[in-house]
Amino acid sequence: MSKIVVVGANHAGTAAINTMLNNYSNNEVVVFDRNSNISFLGCGMALWIGKQISGPEGLFYATKEGLEAKGAKIHMETEVTNIDFDKKVVYATGKNGEKYEESYDKLILSTGSLPIDLNIPGKDLENVQFVKLYQHAEDVIKKLENKEFNNIVVVGAGYIGVELAEAFQRIGKNVELIDLADSCLSGYYDKEFRDLMNKNLADNGINLNYGEKVLEIKGNGKVEEVITDKKSYKADMVILAVGFVPNTKLGKDKLELFKNAYKVDLTQKTSLEDVYAIGDCATVYDNSIQDTNYIALATNAVRSGVVAAHNVCGTKLESIGVQGSNGISIYGLNMVSTGLTLEKAKRLGYNAVATCYEDLQKPGFIEHNNDKVLISIVYDIDTRRVLGAQLASRQDISMGIHMFSLAIQEGVTIDKLKLLDIFFLPHFNQPYNYITMAALSAK
Ligand SMILES: Cc1cc2nc3c(=O)[nH]c(=O)nc-3n(C[C@H](O)[C@H](O)[C@H](O)COP(=O)(O)OP(=O)(O)OC[C@H]3O[C@@H](n4cnc5c(N)ncnc54)[C@H](O)[C@@H]3O)c2cc1C
Repeated sequence: MSKIVVVGANHAGTAAINTMLNNYSNNEVVVFDRNSNISFLGCGMALWIGKQISGPEGLFYATKEGLEAKGAKIHMETEVTNIDFDKKVVYATGKNGEKYEESYDKLILSTGSLPIDLNIPGKDLENVQFVKLYQHAEDVIKKLENKEFNNIVVVGAGYIGVELAEAFQRIGKNVELIDLADSCLSGYYDKEFRDLMNKNLADNGINLNYGEKVLEIKGNGKVEEVITDKKSYKADMVILAVGFVPNTKLGKDKLELFKNAYKVDLTQKTSLEDVYAIGDCATVYDNSIQDTNYIALATNAVRSGVVAAHNVCGTKLESIGVQGSNGISIYGLNMVSTGLTLEKAKRLGYNAVATCYEDLQKPGFIEHNNDKVLISIVYDIDTRRVLGAQLASRQDISMGIHMFSLAIQEGVTIDKLKLLDIFFLPHFNQPYNYITMAALSAK
């Protein structure tokens, strides 16, 4: 029997705890989380704010009581303040000051990530909001009940900033979206795809302000104005969505870090024996670059939790790595991507090219629910290996990206995709499927 202590019980922690409790019966599992809730799906935040769902109830899938019923001991609203890795003891403090000292045989760190705090004047003014926790969303929604809140400035046009810009516009707000880069989604998509999303946002009334650096937030107690290096914007609320950093405050001097995340091997073990790290606080093995990387996604968090749980319970299991597969759906425009964009591949030194194709998803005689699909497959000219793929359509083309995810994971070449057996049915695609057509035109 082992005593396993888990620090952090959101997506990664919950996956690990469930896997341990569902598959192994003879361990003691003790959990600490400083928050008051478990398993909040941040991906639902924009849908909730934009009133596309009726409330937050469905945005949770686990509870303290549910995990306790399976045998874990869960301490909520209890922060782990220190860990003695030599003595193997965790120290924690509850919300009323109660102190805990818990020894462990194995430790799982699932402390997640923290929103990046822009170091600019005015960042602490009232109504400058982060968007990570359930409490953040609740706070934003409550404030928006004030009908005088009309001007919302969203800083950061990554997928979270873009989703929130849509949400605020949907509830009738004037939205300014600001980013230092010259486009939205610059990390995930190449220009052709970004242009589609930028047009989509502009067509729906979002004001796009790219290539601008936010210098200061001004106000008298409450936020009133955002100053960039080019302009100033009236603001009743400012959303800071400029990214996340791994939360590795605990043991950062003791455990090896990579890009500030706990560096882990394929079993999720850190540089220290019996200490594992999972989710947003840990590194991943990225198959598209065939190296260690940092990619913060709930999907990675869940899978890494499963892997760590089996290993701490004595069953060796190795992660198969990730490709950073992701998706976004804004005003009905669906975009999905995996692996490297062409721009990123070139930046990393690959001799990369992209093969693109655009056509109607279904034959022309399908008069309804038929829209264009744009596809790009990025590959290395020297090794022929598929490095990445992107798809965009107003139809649901999302499942296609999973095949590319597997292709990158397994080192499949572009030539293997050319005559791949892809079925045809007019309800779904054309006899000359867009994947086949893009692959066939690869040089
Ligand atoms: C708005 C938004 C939308 C998103 N949309 C998507 C999406 O569509 N798809 C996707 O894959 N990902 C999405 N993500 C990312 C996803 O939410 C994260 O990757 C995921 O939450 C990571 O889970 P985690 O458990 O590793 O970390 P976290 O969710 O950060 O959880 C860490 C937990 O550790 C606890 N903790 C930290 N330090 C301590 C301590 N010292 N003591 C006790 N407890 C501690 C915290 O309270 C927290 O509960 C989104 C994120 C946001 C913010």
